[in-house]
Amino acid sequence: MFPWPSVRVCSGMAWARNLEPLFSPGPGCSAWDRKKVKSSSEFARAQGFITSRWRLSLPLRSEAGFRPSNPKKTAGWIDADASIQYALQQAKDLGAELILDNPVLGWECRENQLKVKTERENLIATKLIITAGAWANQVLRDLGLPLTVKRKVLAWFDPLQPEQFEEEKIPIFAFAPNLFYGFPNIGGRGVKVGEHLGGNLVHDLNLPVMPPSSEDLDSLVETASEVVPTLIGPPPGRDVRLLRTMTCLYTLTPDEHFIIDRHPRHQNVFFAAGFSGHGFKFAPVIAEALADLALDGKTTLPIDFLRLKGRFEKSGN
Ligand SMILES: Cc1cc2nc3c(=O)[nH]c(=O)nc-3n(C[C@H](O)[C@H](O)[C@H](O)COP(=O)(O)OP(=O)(O)OC[C@H]3O[C@@H](n4cnc5c(N)ncnc54)[C@H](O)[C@@H]3O)c2cc1C
Repeated sequence: MFPWPSVRVCSGMAWARNLEPLFSPGPGCSAWDRKKVKSSSEFARAQGFITSRWRLSLPLRSEAGFRPSNPKKTAGWIDADASIQYALQQAKDLGAELILDNPVLGWECRENQLKVKTERENLIATKLIITAGAWANQVLRDLGLPLTVKRKVLAWFDPLQPEQFEEEKIPIFAFAPNLFYGFPNIGGRGVKVGEHLGGNLVHDLNLPVMPPSSEDLDSLVETASEVVPTLIGPPPGRDVRLLRTMTCLYTLTPDEHFIIDRHPRHQNVFFAAGFSGHGFKFAPVIAEALADLALDGKTTLPIDFLRLKGRFEKSGN
């Protein structure tokens, strides 16, 4: 929901849009968020503005509404699947060989030559870039990265008052306390909602991720009816028109910043992990940083604060 240079590149595509953002911090939100809150009168003004403009109601626990000064340029929506297909096609057009659906079982480095063992074959390489998401600690076993994996639930609702959820009628929004967030009804997909905070810890990644349970949905419905009453109706007479649900995984670092670095013991191995639920929009620039590191051994992109060394002393990294 924050700065989105990559959208400008794709905004000609049907699967990407610039949209307005609205963010409401509350108890438990970081000082960064609070700094934006100057006075309670600003709260009253924000509340009035938000309710009149967007028929959203700030949760009782909220402290303010925060909307960037130039909203149009700072947020966006992208169809994740379409953009991944687009990126794969771009890579292929540039000569990349795509080896899909072939799990990596392990890798080893001998005299600067890398052998990557996959289910189907062994691959020999001079450089290796690893971005294995929630499975990073399986592929980078020797590093013991301080990663926590959480199961997250998303839901799409058919809105009670559809005219309220058209693209220009409602911003991308996020509200305390669990950073309950949502998107307009883009392309008739329904109104997507989720909670950025919270989620169940996943201890065994070899087990399938549990599909959404009624408890998962109850908490989303509870908050939705409080924050966006025109979506499913206020309690008790809710009219929940659930279209779709999905689970996926967050891979969290202790400081919720990414880890992008060269392997401390193998000079020709590079990795990125721990995107902590907000990495998709940064994928193009992270790819650029990793390509720079692999090809030139350095990058001009400001990634020093994302390196591993000394960052998680307690975890021995
Ligand atoms: C509910 C939810 C909502 C989100 N919303 C947003 C959002 O609005 N904005 C945003 O910017 N980000 C968002 N994110 C976060 C974003 O999806 C992630 O940060 C990003 O996808 C992480 O990228 P990754 O490459 O590390 O991992 P992934 O996208 O998981 O990719 C890792 C890949 O590695 C493959 N892999 C793993 N192990 C092996 C192996 N041994 N062999 C071969 N392949 C392997 C996996 O199959 C997978 O394809 C959201 C995430 C979730 C779960």
